[in-house]
Amino acid sequence: MPCPFCASPAERILAYRGIPEAEPLLVEGFRARGVARCTGCEHVFADPMPDAALLDRYYAHAFRAPPPSLRARIGSSRAGACLRRLRTRLGAQPASDGTAQLEAIDGVLGRSLSGARTLEVGAGPASFSRAVRERHGAQVICDVAEPSDEWRTVYERHGLRRIAATLEGIDERERYLVIHAAHVVEHLPDALSALVKIGRLLLDGGVLFVEVPDCDAPYFRIHHHPDPPHVHFFGRRSLAALAKAAGFGVRSLERAGPPLAADPGFLEADTKELVGDRELARLLERRRAKGPHAGATLRLIATKETA
Ligand SMILES: [Zn+2]
Repeated sequence: MPCPFCASPAERILAYRGIPEAEPLLVEGFRARGVARCTGCEHVFADPMPDAALLDRYYAHAFRAPPPSLRARIGSSRAGACLRRLRTRLGAQPASDGTAQLEAIDGVLGRSLSGARTLEVGAGPASFSRAVRERHGAQVICDVAEPSDEWRTVYERHGLRRIAATLEGIDERERYLVIHAAHVVEHLPDALSALVKIGRLLLDGGVLFVEVPDCDAPYFRIHHHPDPPHVHFFGRRSLAALAKAAGFGVRSLERAGPPLAADPGFLEADTKELVGDRELARLLERRRAKGPHAGATLRLIATKETA
């Protein structure tokens, strides 16, 4: 399978490991699959790529329902209430991540966002859009695309418009000055088509912001396995290759967050492909003890290349 971004040949390097048995859709989607590394831009991607419709079914279930381990411990309805409280609390917190992202975007944009429209794809708690509204108020129209209904009260409180569930659902006639997609692209089987569509939705002079996990070395040395349901594992070169293939010019590409210095609690190299709930819970606990963002991310800011 050639590289989806630069078309160079790719070689299989690893099998998917750590697929939780409690998630039958993940088992179906990732069993017996691996990842291949491009010999050109070094992009690592699922080989073969899982079915997009099956992944959509997984996300619809995974992001609406509380995790199976929590349901098993305290029951479905209490787990649901717990998740709603958590989301409401997240939506009330200052959008500190989003503020830092907004400042990075402002540095490239060269004009004020006042009077413009922004789009946040895969928004979740929408920390970027909330940061925009905190700074500019109703002077900026902030749209979000988000598959889960669970953030509705957060969006209402901050005056955000949920216009679609996913990027595919957005009307091609919409136009934005800034489009933001943090921790989205690594989940999309056809990441290139997604960025091409984003290019069509951007105004001339508009800015794209993408954040993904940083999978440059030592990622595959110390994680030992790819993280399902991620299907793309970007390094600096491959994220730039994707942007270029989709018709963007890279304005900045930086590492953010603490570097990966040690195994943050992922599976050992000899772990079986599928692990039990108890083992997975133990591993997640170790990972949490190291902090929510144990690894670094890559932040790309790009502008549309005009022909
Ligand atoms: Zn490549």
